[in-house]
Amino acid sequence: MKTGSCPSCGAPVEFPAGAGRVKVCEHCNTVLQYGEFKFENLGRVAELFDTDSPLSLGLFGKHSGTSFQVKGRIQKKNATGLWDEWFLEFEDARTAWLAESEGEWKILFPVEGVTPPKAQDLRPLGTFELHGKLFVTEEVNQANTVSAQGELPEFNRTHHYADATGPKGVFATLDTADGVTEAFVGNVLTLRELGFASEELNLQPKRAALAQARCPTCNGALALKAPDAAKRVACPYCGALHDASGGTLAFLQQLEKPPYEPLIPLGAVGSFDESALFKGNASSSALKTEIRFTCLAFLIRSCTIEGTRYSWDEYLLWNKVEGFRWVMSSNGHLTWLKPVGAGEVELPPGGAAFQGQSYKTFQSVFAQTDYVAGECYWAVEVGESARATEYIAPPRSINCDQTDNEVTFTHGVMFESSLLQSAFKLKEKPPGAWGVASAKLNPFSAKAKDAWMWSGIWAVALVALFVVFSMLGNTSEFLNENFEVSPQDESGGASAQRFSKPFEIPTRVPLEISVEATGLNNSWMGVAIDLVNDETGEVIAVYAEPSSYSGVEDGESWSEGSQSVSKQTAEVDKGRYVLRTTTSFDSPQSLTYKVQVKGDDSVGFCCPLMMLLLLLVVPIYYSLRSSSFETSRWNESVFQSEQGESSFPHQRSNDSSDDDSSSLFDSDD
Ligand SMILES: [Zn+2]
Ligand SMILES: [Zn+2]
Repeated sequence: MKTGSCPSCGAPVEFPAGAGRVKVCEHCNTVLQYGEFKFENLGRVAELFDTDSPLSLGLFGKHSGTSFQVKGRIQKKNATGLWDEWFLEFEDARTAWLAESEGEWKILFPVEGVTPPKAQDLRPLGTFELHGKLFVTEEVNQANTVSAQGELPEFNRTHHYADATGPKGVFATLDTADGVTEAFVGNVLTLRELGFASEELNLQPKRAALAQARCPTCNGALALKAPDAAKRVACPYCGALHDASGGTLAFLQQLEKPPYEPLIPLGAVGSFDESALFKGNASSSALKTEIRFTCLAFLIRSCTIEGTRYSWDEYLLWNKVEGFRWVMSSNGHLTWLKPVGAGEVELPPGGAAFQGQSYKTFQSVFAQTDYVAGECYWAVEVGESARATEYIAPPRSINCDQTDNEVTFTHGVMFESSLLQSAFKLKEKPPGAWGVASAKLNPFSAKAKDAWMWSGIWAVALVALFVVFSMLGNTSEFLNENFEVSPQDESGGASAQRFSKPFEIPTRVPLEISVEATGLNNSWMGVAIDLVNDETGEVIAVYAEPSSYSGVEDGESWSEGSQSVSKQTAEVDKGRYVLRTTTSFDSPQSLTYKVQVKGDDSVGFCCPLMMLLLLLVVPIYYSLRSSSFETSRWNESVFQSEQGESSFPHQRSNDSSDDDSSSLFDSDD
């Protein structure tokens, strides 16, 4: 153990043999670096700021089975707030940093053997690789170390940092100070997962004062719901905007109150089954796994396109475990938005890809914040502007908000206003939606699909029926009657005339008239048939002569003639008919014969064709409606050509010098 005395105050300082090369004098806050057997004075830091952190120096924890101890702490500050970073030393000599951000704990391990780009050279959406893994930059910023405590591996007053995400929620941070860039990777954990003994943690409610806060301007009760994360609080009563990052409310500026009341009251709690929302079956009651979200803030944002202002409302929702969500209300169309890491979204030309689904670029506008009320986890400013780009695969969307130094992605899904009303128990029904929402599911496309399906089914059925009937011949028997003549009747004379009962021929068809005389034996009979139209008296005549002869000649039997003969007629009109037969014969016996009248009375060929055409009407109607819906949707889009090259400005590139997008972001280095 190395010891010495503080070059500033003379107090004794001990240097344990660990990874720490820097120690902060407990007595005078002078930062001391150990080198060449003497202490180097790196200057003083401020007294520690009270951040109500649950951690303190000396605590032991465990990560992946290896114990560590909290050895040091630095407090960093940037334009939007102040935070702690804790230095951990593991029993196997590894080190890590632990940082709290918006109520989450990130553990970050140094990555050795890489030469990452300088943090300040990256831009949001810029990418870099660490050991072959691709990371997408979400935030590039600068911070100052304002205070420190305990043992530290090094000490720098100013840092540039770039926060990035890779696939599967892995975080990476590049930290550049004094021209040297270090890379760290890690992930989000809870304090419990970090193995801290809860009795050793300072679990006093953090920033307790904020949970009871009153507006310093109007004394209205603000009662913050998420004081751990709050950076800005806009009083809903008087519009005063406050900085909450110091644990108390510090007045920043007077803002105008939003011009209308929020649909979801601030502080209201609503339960949502988020996974059902994304699956699109949120209204079904079975197996609900609902999460309670509190409404923290209400914002009105807008964009101006060709001189016209378009505005929409955004609600910030929060759950202690799940974190933040957004509900966006645009023309009464509601979208649920869940944050996703930039590293999980791909941006191929013309669109985006997320979890295997492709999204088309819909629009990219500069969205400005016009009004804010409630508590925000970022340093919200009225007038702040971000490029908001929407990629759609209705009813889902990927939304990208990008400023000069930060990019955030959310995964959205549209949902019904009745769901919002029941979740938050709103007294009034949210106003009805109007216009076409970008990611609104095309209501006609499903109907058109259904209509095409049913028409298809009916068409197939119709064709099948038609085929079956054609194969069966589909003929109807209009008459089947037996007659008898006796030898007393005069062959071919009036006494050999017989009349059928009247019968109907339902449609204009050609007829098949058959005569069958099964009793003929080596004889014949001639049957003159007159088909008499009852109404018009018109006669259609046919003649049939069944005969049957057989015998044996030279030991071989023979037969000729046919006991049954059929005749076809031309088309006969529909109507009521009587059939008259006049029989000629030379048989000494009585003869019986059967007369059948048949015809194809099935609907003509034109009829199934007509029905097929009729079947097309409904699907064509819905297809036209569907396509006009898409036309009005895409009319709202600045990317009207679906195939055209996207003018989306943030094409990803490792090399920021060769693409147009870099011109969008003023270089600040
Ligand atoms: Zn000292
Ligand atoms: Zn107020």
